[in-house]
Amino acid sequence: MNAEEYVKQVFEQVVKRNPNEPEFHQAVEEVLESLIPVLDRHNEYIKEGIIERLVEPERIIMFRVPWLDDNGNIRVNRGFRVEFNSAIGPYKGGLRFHPTVNSSIVKFLGFEQIFKNSLTGLPIGGGKGGSDFDPKGKSDKEIMKFCQSFMTELYRHVGQFTDVPAGDIGVSGREIGYLFGQYKRIKNEFAAAVLTGKGLAYGGSLVRKEATGFGLVYFVERMLEDKNMSLKGKTVVVSGSGNVAIYAMEKAKELGAKIVACSDSNGYIYDSEGIDLKVVKQIKEVERKRISEYVKYRSWAKYYEGCKGIWTNKCDVALPCATQNEIDEEAAKILVENEVILVGEGANMPCSSKAVEIFIDNNILFAPAKAANAGGVATSALEMAQNSMRLSWSFEEVDRRLKEIMINIYENASEAAKKYDCEDNLVVGANIAGFIKVANAMMEQGVV
Ligand code: GLU
Repeated sequence: MNAEEYVKQVFEQVVKRNPNEPEFHQAVEEVLESLIPVLDRHNEYIKEGIIERLVEPERIIMFRVPWLDDNGNIRVNRGFRVEFNSAIGPYKGGLRFHPTVNSSIVKFLGFEQIFKNSLTGLPIGGGKGGSDFDPKGKSDKEIMKFCQSFMTELYRHVGQFTDVPAGDIGVSGREIGYLFGQYKRIKNEFAAAVLTGKGLAYGGSLVRKEATGFGLVYFVERMLEDKNMSLKGKTVVVSGSGNVAIYAMEKAKELGAKIVACSDSNGYIYDSEGIDLKVVKQIKEVERKRISEYVKYRSWAKYYEGCKGIWTNKCDVALPCATQNEIDEEAAKILVENEVILVGEGANMPCSSKAVEIFIDNNILFAPAKAANAGGVATSALEMAQNSMRLSWSFEEVDRRLKEIMINIYENASEAAKKYDCEDNLVVGANIAGFIKVANAMMEQGVV
């Protein structure tokens, strides 16, 4: 069958089978479209039903998470784990705690994770999970009680050879600690590699916290280098102020860029002198407060309510590190008008399909999330490796490996794009390079 028709048919089936899941449809459509040239040349993937199998999660787990708040009220949230694909390794991917989490969100994230994880070159399959629990405004005790209840169900589905969760939006070191403690208690075993992003005292890896942000900037710098440019002297806007954003800003600054804006879900700050990261870390990592506090420390900086406006600020490099679809068609057009050179996705799918199209059509250098933000999960795989060996590498060692992985991802994605006549289109290149390894593993393992 003709590849284009086949892809259309599979996609129609996905939409029919997964109604009301627009984010999942968006993620699948992008990948399937990129794969048409591969399927044209390799009919065996069609014959073996690889695509039909790939778009169907191996397993979806959905569960009730009851917990008691500080006033003694019973609260009920919904927990998810999507175990999408284990062809090349145990399911691997983060947990997201955010009120917008639903099956569409976890499925889109789990699906993307398959290709991202494959691109790292490390043996990790694709999965994702989370809950519609909103950590905002919750006390530390409430966070702990929620994590314990969440793990009381999740523990039976995870394991170092089965499924290895980590953090994502709303889940970082503190939450991983509570989840790990509960897992250890229920199982009566210290199985360090069941979760990644752990604290350094109990099996965590150096550089894991910084990895997604650092990795993004290593990738972006490599892309610029190919065009005889660098981050030095460039003006950068970064959305978000979580783990990814903070360490992307730190590395970009180290490489000589000036970061003028960042945000949280309430609004954004603009600092003409360049963002002071010590202040951002104090507000976000220590006090866990809103980014609006920044202007109390830097009186000349401006705070704007609402985060969409951040993309109206002129910049050379835009690094969306907040959440999905934060750059829509309108924001993309403004960035292009303002002569942005490069857009690098730190968050998962932060640019809408239309926005990506606008960047590609206008020859803006575009670093897609699956490739550019893979540094986090890659370092998670390095954490698993260290846990298996019962030893830990130095900061320099992990950082060196992370950098090498990001450069390899860039080379592999560009090579795949060239091979299939889509030079410079890393969206297509990343999807193809990620796909081929998984597809071949699936072929070799038979119809499972
Ligand atoms: N949540 C991160 C991602 O989107 C990291 C996942 C992990 O370390 O397993 O890739």
